[in-house]
Amino acid sequence: MVSKVSAIADAAPELTLASVTPVISVENLVHRYENRTALNGVSFDVRPAELFGLLGPNGSGKTTLFRILSTLMLPTAGRATIMGCDAAQEPARLRRQIGVVFQAQSVDVKLTAYENLWHQGHLYGLRGSPLKKRIQEILSRVGLADRAKELVETFSGGMQRRIELAKGLLHHPGVLLLDEPTTGLDPGARRDLWQYLQTLRDEEHVSVLVTTHLMEEAERCDRLAIMNEGNLVALGTPAELKSEIGGDVVLLEAAHDAGLLAERIRARFHVETTILDNQVRIEREGAHRFVTEVVEAFPGEIEGISVSKPAVEDVFIRRTGHKFWTEQNDAQTAEEQSRR
Ligand code: ADP
Repeated sequence: MVSKVSAIADAAPELTLASVTPVISVENLVHRYENRTALNGVSFDVRPAELFGLLGPNGSGKTTLFRILSTLMLPTAGRATIMGCDAAQEPARLRRQIGVVFQAQSVDVKLTAYENLWHQGHLYGLRGSPLKKRIQEILSRVGLADRAKELVETFSGGMQRRIELAKGLLHHPGVLLLDEPTTGLDPGARRDLWQYLQTLRDEEHVSVLVTTHLMEEAERCDRLAIMNEGNLVALGTPAELKSEIGGDVVLLEAAHDAGLLAERIRARFHVETTILDNQVRIEREGAHRFVTEVVEAFPGEIEGISVSKPAVEDVFIRRTGHKFWTEQNDAQTAEEQSRR
């Protein structure tokens, strides 16, 4: 006889997912730098062996959240736990559970790959032949076993990043946190790194939280938390999030005034519009037919047209009403860089 519980679980798999103990739990996290709010009550969970992406434009709060999770900073309010350890109350215990890859380089390029890992092992209390064995194992894992004795300064950017990963993974953490790990890498090295993160999840069941501002990376995550100005604006699988967009996405480039064109399109076709710079954006099923009708209705008013399937960026636009990259967050990047 099928038990009641398993019958319910079969009928509604989301019930079992919801009851899985989260590996990372972020509850109502708030962080303020003097008078600037960087996190404004953010909550989400990361499940075991999940590749979880934190996507947001510059200034959205990703690094702040990352620093709190990796115990470098205390939140103003709220709570973050990893594998049951509270980031504020038990930072030392939490740190043993995680591997961290920061944006800034932490490898010593004047040492060999092996020496870097040897010192890292000592920091975690690993020594002697078990450490030796683990270094060989992890270097093979990241495809650098034959370069162990070479100085890291002779490595390509992608190889140096793989040594960073190896350092983060040396002590067998169940959770790996990475802050924009592909910054500065060429497309081939980016693909390799993502491939590696997927292997890590599939073969070693490591839970991975990765921050990114790149849409193509977001698409590769199992689930995504999308941030904007310190707020969580969307949470779900890329497919779930995109399915909330009704039909295709139409962008019309206005010949004159986008605001006026949008107003006339709304009046004539009863559709919702968003204005992005000089473009009018519309979500619409049967977009090709609609586009023909619009062009015929407003001759000389439209300079360019694009029709596309919904992408993760469309979810961001729908939730925030503006583009992912704006002059404001570009200016913020410049400000950040001058401060760092
Ligand atoms: P992201 O990683 O998404 O670019 P951050 O967490 O770095 O976002 O920044 C979030 C907000 O907090 C931004 O408005 C940023 O300018 C501000 N901020 C970040 N670090 C500091 C700091 N040390 N002092 C003051 N404001 C900061």
